[in-house]
Amino acid sequence: MAMPHIMETYGRLPIAFTRGEGVWLWDRDGKRYLDAIAGVAVNAIGHCHPKLVAALREQVGTLIHTSNLYEVELQEKLAAKLCELSGMDKVFFCNSGAEANECAIKLARYYGHKKNIDNPAVVVLEKSFHGRTLATLSATGSRKVQAGFEPLVSGFVRVPFDDLEAVRKVAASNKNVVAILAELVQGEGGVCVCAPGYLKGLREICDANDWLLMLDEVQTGIGRTGKMFGFQHYGVTPDVMALAKGLGGGVPIGACVAKGKAASLFTPGTHGSTFGGTPLACSAALATLDVMVNEKVCENATEVGEHIRTTLRRQLAETPGVKEVRGQGMLNGIELDRPCGDLVKAAMDKGMLINVTADNVVRFAPPLVMNKGEADTLVNSMVPLIREFLQKPAPAAAKA
Ligand SMILES: *Cc1c(COP(=O)(O)O)cnc(C)c1O
Repeated sequence: MAMPHIMETYGRLPIAFTRGEGVWLWDRDGKRYLDAIAGVAVNAIGHCHPKLVAALREQVGTLIHTSNLYEVELQEKLAAKLCELSGMDKVFFCNSGAEANECAIKLARYYGHKKNIDNPAVVVLEKSFHGRTLATLSATGSRKVQAGFEPLVSGFVRVPFDDLEAVRKVAASNKNVVAILAELVQGEGGVCVCAPGYLKGLREICDANDWLLMLDEVQTGIGRTGKMFGFQHYGVTPDVMALAKGLGGGVPIGACVAKGKAASLFTPGTHGSTFGGTPLACSAALATLDVMVNEKVCENATEVGEHIRTTLRRQLAETPGVKEVRGQGMLNGIELDRPCGDLVKAAMDKGMLINVTADNVVRFAPPLVMNKGEADTLVNSMVPLIREFLQKPAPAAAKA
């Protein structure tokens, strides 16, 4: 189907789905696909989980939206749950990952101005992805995302990923810095996992310099890495955390969660969102978190994610062209020695939905409820495709 009335911002595959259940999707012709991308790390508890569907059905017939002119009971209930799960203090609700990061960036600037820093700056990382709004694309470490949209928003200082020394250098030389915004696994940047001591090091630098430690957990949060939040692998709590993707199990909702001094910065009128935290979206997130906890979804993500990496490593060990299999929990990547976007279509033809990030990294981000048998189906189908792809002669250099 052509889509002549839709702006051409996406290179879409020519399929459309009509139904989903668990890790499976069906297209218009009734063909079944194993979903190993989960709507880009969104469908954490799988498609149409019965508990999510029931909660939404109930809420839709009760109350959908009232606005933030009034108290919204489900917002407080959801915020309390997020604070309990994260050990943090207060939440602002929005509708997407970019908005959650916008909120974090505004918090950082507000914090700076309170300290009489007139031009507050935020440290950001190379190869990061924070969203497509003007501030978040400026924070993003990718020229592709920024090109054509200059002038960029100022107030960002960029350092290499996973490099504490570079952050220390900035701390020593730039007195305008008030915060750092980081991903612990760079999902869009090629599934790059930080070293185990990185977060602790960042915490120390932030404490020594009175910076806010802000984590973009839009992709890593809600169990994706095998813990409810990625930072929980490292025994360190951030001051600010951005969430979205998995939070609503498919219903749009974002959250900016803050702790301590960062939690009480905003006052009435300093930030807002018409749709942020509707009863409908909050009921979806509450149901999703309920399932995550009650059905031990994080534990499953840890176990099955480990199984995926182990079997991929074993099966691809002798394959020339495979550089590395890496990841954490259910966010995994296979780095090849060449651009491999063509694999997405080949996988689709075989009934597998995957994606390629950073040009040469095959990414698996399946629903966190995927079981070992389904994981084996995925690996056993993808490995021959990857081998076949790598045996093909490299295509002639693209014409300029
Ligand atoms: C997807 C993503 C975003 C952007 O989220 P949107 O909901 O598309 O605005 C921001 N940060 C990270 C790490 C992401 O993966």
